Amino acid sequence: MQKHHTGDGREQKLTAKEILKEQWFLTRFCFAAAPGGMAFHVFESVKLQVSIFFEFIWMINYALGIAERGGPWKQFFWCMVIFMAAVFVSTMSFSYYKQSVKPRLTPVLHQAFRMHIYERTKDLDLACYDETDFYQKFILAAEESDTCIDRYLETVETYSAGITQFVLALGFCLTVNPLILLVTGVSFCVSLWLAGKENRLQIASRMERLPYEQKREYQNRVFYLSDYAKDLRLYPGMQQKCRQDFNRSQKEIRRIHRTYGKKLFVYGCIRDAVGPVYLESVLSWSLLLYQVLKLHTLSYAAMLSSLKAASYVSKSSGSMIMGWKKAAENAAYVKRIHSLTNMEPSVVSAKNLPVGTSPVSFDIRHVTFSYQPGKPVLKDISLQIGARQKIALVGYNGSGKTTLVKLLLRLYDPDSGSICCNGTDIRDYAVEGYRHSIGSVFQDFKIYAASLKENVLMDVSQNTKKENYEVEKALYDAHFTLQDNRLVYQIETPLTTEFEKDGVNLSGGEMQKVAIARTLYRRQNLIIMDEPSSALDPRAEYELNQELNEIAQDKTVVFISHRLSTTRDADCIYMMEQGRIIEAGTHEELLAAGGKYAGMWKVQAGLYLDAQ
Ligand code: ADP
Repeated sequence: MQKHHTGDGREQKLTAKEILKEQWFLTRFCFAAAPGGMAFHVFESVKLQVSIFFEFIWMINYALGIAERGGPWKQFFWCMVIFMAAVFVSTMSFSYYKQSVKPRLTPVLHQAFRMHIYERTKDLDLACYDETDFYQKFILAAEESDTCIDRYLETVETYSAGITQFVLALGFCLTVNPLILLVTGVSFCVSLWLAGKENRLQIASRMERLPYEQKREYQNRVFYLSDYAKDLRLYPGMQQKCRQDFNRSQKEIRRIHRTYGKKLFVYGCIRDAVGPVYLESVLSWSLLLYQVLKLHTLSYAAMLSSLKAASYVSKSSGSMIMGWKKAAENAAYVKRIHSLTNMEPSVVSAKNLPVGTSPVSFDIRHVTFSYQPGKPVLKDISLQIGARQKIALVGYNGSGKTTLVKLLLRLYDPDSGSICCNGTDIRDYAVEGYRHSIGSVFQDFKIYAASLKENVLMDVSQNTKKENYEVEKALYDAHFTLQDNRLVYQIETPLTTEFEKDGVNLSGGEMQKVAIARTLYRRQNLIIMDEPSSALDPRAEYELNQELNEIAQDKTVVFISHRLSTTRDADCIYMMEQGRIIEAGTHEELLAAGGKYAGMWKVQAGLYLDAQ
């Protein structure tokens, strides 16, 4: 298990090198995703500052200089004409950028970054979801990816503009009045030091709040998601607990804001006092008046324009400091997202072998597996499943049945032992192809906000008209009835009412039949069913089982069920307890043995007879 994320901000303190590394990654990423848009973004930020420099510094100096010298006015006139024409062109290109380029650029980058995260995480091991740290990173990546791009675009704008403004204004000051830079320099250094402190405090505050914000989000979700609505009404006590937890998270968030807020306020006041607001302007004016009135080393034009240029030097430095703060904050998020996207799946294929189409047999040898180190859930499991055999795994909750089929599906790999499918170790098959070759229905299947047909197909590439018959047949075989008034568009009817007003919310049993139809549609040679009919009444379950027996005649079937009536016809029944196989045999053999299976059967027999 990886280190649990404590929410401590210090954990996130990045060095300048790391911040630059993350910025460099974002730069390469964004320029690769949208080269034209990014180039325009930089160009506009630079151009704006160039035009501001000419308008407010160079022009003041030039125009006042001419006024002081009394001409030449003709040259001034032509200069103004060229200048106004340039401003007009510049305004047009800025409008185009703002109205057309930027609104397209942002969504393109958002999408590219989300796809990058998705592509890098989609094949990660299911085991990752058992780790709190992974889950927190995943939530962070999902919630912050758009904001990371927005902050990066802001940083690019800040630095393109800041560097341009700084270089032009500094160059001007150096040529016209270098002395003024002394005042600006002192103010800059103090501001830099204070901004660093503020930055660290803000990151620490954000990181300390993060776990509480995530809890608050979770509690919020519990209140609005329909999954919880029924339970919350039936168990008001849980509602109260959620409310209490929500208030507790809020209280903690307020406390953290208060604690950091006081310090941030003090730093902010000092920064304003020494920054351009007070001290810098008083000192600058004093120096300039002294140069103009006492030393006579400066013209009025140079005085005003150098004052303006110095203020730009200071302003651009300030904005770059603040930009650095934002870049550092962004880098901390991007680094966490990176630690997620850099993870490699451990369930990979050794030889990438293709899976054949022949009926499936399994040889499971001495398999031991644990979700958490030192706590084995499966202990030394060995069993053989012949081609076309019907195998049942039975046992009480938590005995390891579902875990065993997850191993068969290669959702996890055993800690020790091996599983061979058709004589080849399953670790040698190409992972995706192998998983795809198995039809499975789990208890916790999900119905998607898509059409009934898509919920059966589970593959949009196959969503063609000619598949309709196959889908309808799979639904029919799963005993799902299409003669239902609610299914206005038959298999094209949207499921769930989340987005579609014509959508249909199916009952638990109906949803289970859709999940079974999914497996039947795919016609694989191996079918794994984990409690496929738990939501059906005993009669419906019995009928469905008869149907399934027929359909799966030439297939290998691994079946998990609590209801022994559904598994009695299996070729071999394995009774599991605490991660071990404790009994194996046919229904009759196990009854004759009079062990735990026989005991379990006796308890359930009444129910089965009722169903008959
Ligand atoms: P069954 O299917 O027989 O009810 P499972 O295979 O689901 O049993 O579970 C076997 C044991 O493994 C249980 O003790 C369960 O709590 C534990 N377990 C199941 N899934 C996980 C998981 N993702 N992380 C940790 N423990 C798990």
